[in-house]
Amino acid sequence: MTTRNMEDYLEVIWNLQNKKGYVKAKDIAERLEVSRPSVSEMIKKLSENSYILYEKYGGIVFTAKGKKLAREIKKRHTLLVEFLKIVGVDEQNAQTDACKLEHDISPETITCLLEFVEFINLLPESSKWKENFQEYLEKETG
Ligand code: MN
Repeated sequence: MTTRNMEDYLEVIWNLQNKKGYVKAKDIAERLEVSRPSVSEMIKKLSENSYILYEKYGGIVFTAKGKKLAREIKKRHTLLVEFLKIVGVDEQNAQTDACKLEHDISPETITCLLEFVEFINLLPESSKWKENFQEYLEKETG
């Protein structure tokens, strides 16, 4: 069982790994805006739970188990961002709010959102749903 905190760390480790190619405790602390001791504590916990391998003075790498979970967390994040953007949220808010939603949302709701995003993406350009929705919003507020 992972806690909210653990998922946040796994997500940041995943992002750092993909962006920089390596992961250092210092970078995790910066990204999550937490203290170095908190990072050390969590690294120990993640390592004890076999999500990561950690060498003192070295880098952090995922185990297969850690990678699998991190990939799921990342997928949920991307999906939520996509959904929020579909309903008109701007990129920056979508990114921030996805991180708030992603840990508490039920798998059932995630599945519904996934189906919806897929459906929208399957619509042909000619369906003009975006323009129609925009017009609707303008009518509502205007
Ligand atoms: Mn996130």
